[in-house]
Amino acid sequence: MLPIIEPFRIKSVEPIRMTTREERVQLLDKAHGNLFFLHSQDVLIDLLTDSGTGAMSSEQWASVMRGDESYAGSPSYLRFEKAVQDILGLPEVIPTHQGRAAEHLLFSIYGGEGKVILNNTHFDTTRANAEVSGALALDLPCPESKNTDDMEPFKGNMDLVRLRAELDQHGKAVSLVMVTVTNNAGGGQPVSLANVRGIRALCDKFGVPLYIDACRFAENAWFIKQREEGQADRSVAEIVLEMFSMADGCTMSAKKDGMANIGGFLASRNSELAADFRRRLVVTEGFPTYGGLSGRDLEAVAQGLHEVLREDYLNYRTASIQYVVERLHERGIPVLRPAGGHAIFLDAARFLDHIPWQQYPGQSLAIELYLEGGIRSCEIGTCMLGGTDPETGEETKALHELVRLAIPRRTYTQSHMDYVIEIIDAVWQKRKTLTGTRITQAPPVLRHFSAHFEQIQEGSVV
Ligand SMILES: *Cc1c(COP(=O)(O)O)cnc(C)c1O
Repeated sequence: MLPIIEPFRIKSVEPIRMTTREERVQLLDKAHGNLFFLHSQDVLIDLLTDSGTGAMSSEQWASVMRGDESYAGSPSYLRFEKAVQDILGLPEVIPTHQGRAAEHLLFSIYGGEGKVILNNTHFDTTRANAEVSGALALDLPCPESKNTDDMEPFKGNMDLVRLRAELDQHGKAVSLVMVTVTNNAGGGQPVSLANVRGIRALCDKFGVPLYIDACRFAENAWFIKQREEGQADRSVAEIVLEMFSMADGCTMSAKKDGMANIGGFLASRNSELAADFRRRLVVTEGFPTYGGLSGRDLEAVAQGLHEVLREDYLNYRTASIQYVVERLHERGIPVLRPAGGHAIFLDAARFLDHIPWQQYPGQSLAIELYLEGGIRSCEIGTCMLGGTDPETGEETKALHELVRLAIPRRTYTQSHMDYVIEIIDAVWQKRKTLTGTRITQAPPVLRHFSAHFEQIQEGSVV
């Protein structure tokens, strides 16, 4: 079989500044051991996030020049609106500066004290917006998602048994059901059409609206085409339309499958509701024909939404992630399987099984990947998701100790991925020499962004 090549050639390049291990030791020391404090010029391969970090196409850059910056009634908005309507089939389109602003608008109506929001897994900003409104946000991931080595094809699915139970238990308090595609917090794993159908049926039975958190809708549809029975001969565009035909609306961050560096939207079928959203939008984001965006941003997103449906692109994107996951798995390195749509997740609890969770094995691994090869990744484990129990004062454990290597869209090539594999393997070979991590200073909330870290010395008392 021929290799799956990057389906583009490169017109503009951004140099990477090479650094040595010695330099990186000093740079990380200055950053208090926190990768969020590093300057991006001090990173060789930046896999911190796939959000807004992708490369735009020549057509997107051309559309940027077409951007019309009129305050009201810009043709750029009409192109944006039409792209969303054509691709997702949702008639009411409300632009926002990014995904969380769309969530904020959504929960200004569906949130509030006493309300319950159900989701396969809330992304952190979705949860934060629901909770800030006073609502209770519950995650209902399917049981297979708990095992990082279970090859079930749709580990992003919602647990329908629990969904029914929660709808029964909370009754009218449930104001909204959401399904996140792909399930980002659950490892970028897809949700099947069959699962969305099951969710829709329960929403109909209980009279609750269903919204899709659509950030990676195209990657999800590609997995449906690849993995779900009877879907192989359909186009990704058709699958997307069917998925959204079951929803009352969606929130979207265009920094993911919008293929843009900024942008988002809220879309809905309900014109009365949309009028209410638009009244609120003017107060916080801007006039309804631009949201928080410039005309050129609207153009880039409109074009990006079409490009993301290209199957050669989706094939290359998922193949490059699967390529890394398989090479690591072949070498016995613990990695989340099957491969997800936007990132590679190392299982740090198994990778560094000599480091107890209280010493943040994920953070130790992320730090060593930077020191060894200048790769910036992100701990998604007890550092990020755990914390101090307000009652007992004890540290609470996250479900998994993961390190996420998120792949920006159309940005790195296969040789960058080969380099990533070799660096991870080099750290794997010397894993027994790695020690745990200690937090020396941390804020009370969202501590992973600004905590200071220190490596625990071999043999020291902790
Ligand atoms: C990124 C993301 C969001 C929030 O979008 P922003 O553009 O970062 O505000 C919401 N949900 C999911 C699943 C995401 O990945």
